[in-house]
Amino acid sequence: MTDMPLLSNLDAIDAAHHLHPFSDMKKLNAAGTRIIERAEGVHIFDNTGKRYLDAFAGLWCVNVGYGRTEIADATHQQMQELPYYNTFFGTTTPPATLLAQKIASHTGDTLNRVFFTNSGSEANDTWFRMARVYWKALGKPNKTQVIARKNAYHGSTIAGASLGGMRWMHEQGNLPIPGISHINQPYWYAEGGDLTPAEFGLKVARELDEKIEELGQDNVAAFVAEPIQGAGGVIVPPDTYWPEIARICRERNILLVCDEVICGFGRLGTWFGHQHYGVEPDLAPIAKGLSSGYLPIGGVLVSDRVADVMVEELGDFYHGFTYSGHPVCAAAALKNLRIIEEEGLVERVRDDIGPYFAEAWKSLEDHEVVGEAVSVGLMGGLQMAVDKATRRRYAKPDDVGTLVRNHCLENGLIMRATGDRMLASPAFTITHSQLDEMVETLRKGLDHLRDAVGE
Ligand SMILES: *Cc1c(COP(=O)(O)O)cnc(C)c1O
Repeated sequence: MTDMPLLSNLDAIDAAHHLHPFSDMKKLNAAGTRIIERAEGVHIFDNTGKRYLDAFAGLWCVNVGYGRTEIADATHQQMQELPYYNTFFGTTTPPATLLAQKIASHTGDTLNRVFFTNSGSEANDTWFRMARVYWKALGKPNKTQVIARKNAYHGSTIAGASLGGMRWMHEQGNLPIPGISHINQPYWYAEGGDLTPAEFGLKVARELDEKIEELGQDNVAAFVAEPIQGAGGVIVPPDTYWPEIARICRERNILLVCDEVICGFGRLGTWFGHQHYGVEPDLAPIAKGLSSGYLPIGGVLVSDRVADVMVEELGDFYHGFTYSGHPVCAAAALKNLRIIEEEGLVERVRDDIGPYFAEAWKSLEDHEVVGEAVSVGLMGGLQMAVDKATRRRYAKPDDVGTLVRNHCLENGLIMRATGDRMLASPAFTITHSQLDEMVETLRKGLDHLRDAVGE
């Protein structure tokens, strides 16, 4: 601590010098920042010593839990051996190559190659260019348009934010860039009207077909979607949705891109989210759970279909990052994946803690202010509503989510809210009793909402 003599003053220093992501800085500076100092297992501790149960695994990423000294040791050793070398100009490092092999061992038959980035946003920028060079190399230079979805999240870079479907993000910086269109999301609760979920799933999937028709099949490169929308509110699509999307991409000959940044590496009880839905993407951005957030690293899974063209036809792909495949980050990721394998954490999510969570989460549906509580694996979304029968929602969704989230925080539980949905995404190591505690604290937050506001 000797290099941090003004620790008690950190709040003021932060206000003076630190601009935070996705934050209203005026409000944040007035309220003061929460300073997190340490963490262990599923708990984080702030600078007053207050302990929180982290039901969000950091930011959907600390899947093996905090305090893994094995990862710290692996990175310490790698840093002493080789802190950095690039993967440009015909070189690689052992951790980068072994990590690519390790990832490919869990992706099924067709996704056999990885292109490394430092984040999920960069991974989305990367496949965006790959999809276009793929079609160009095949002699179809007009196949450049990309179709994405409203309320999707694909990161904050120019391509990432453009692919994402957040209007309030587009308004800042004149986005989206040209060549990207957005179709509706499979959010039955809010937008399904009188259709059954199954009917609605087909209807919104077929919007993809209509959009391809409108743009012209020969102008469309790819469609991108998260297996389950994360930041958008943990929107679990109806079962009819993904098979229809996959069929349309196949028949229309456009690339299917699954954004696996959250769903990848076990969150849904399968190694990748597309495996849960039984579809095979051509490209898949990854990040977050790849290293459980211990160090920044991401990448794109590339199918043989695309890789064969890149390898055989393209020549140089003029794209990459100084830190693509960074050896220390790769060593952290490699150790993280070994922990997931050795402790059987994907199987634990599938067979034990996932089903336990599903039942506990579902039990919240009997609360007066809850419209639905849905989950897959360890990813849960809870919709608050004024009236269950008509699915009528609160007039000010953001206020509702904030109210419940803040109540949870005061009671030592970190959850996230997107509008009027509460989101949970705990570490794969969370125990049954910790899950019970999480659901009980959330239930108190819902009581607070019921008592605090009419609508
Ligand atoms: C977090 C996220 C990203 C962006 O990842 P960063 O590492 O923050 O750039 C992209 N896609 C999805 C689905 C995400 O959840």
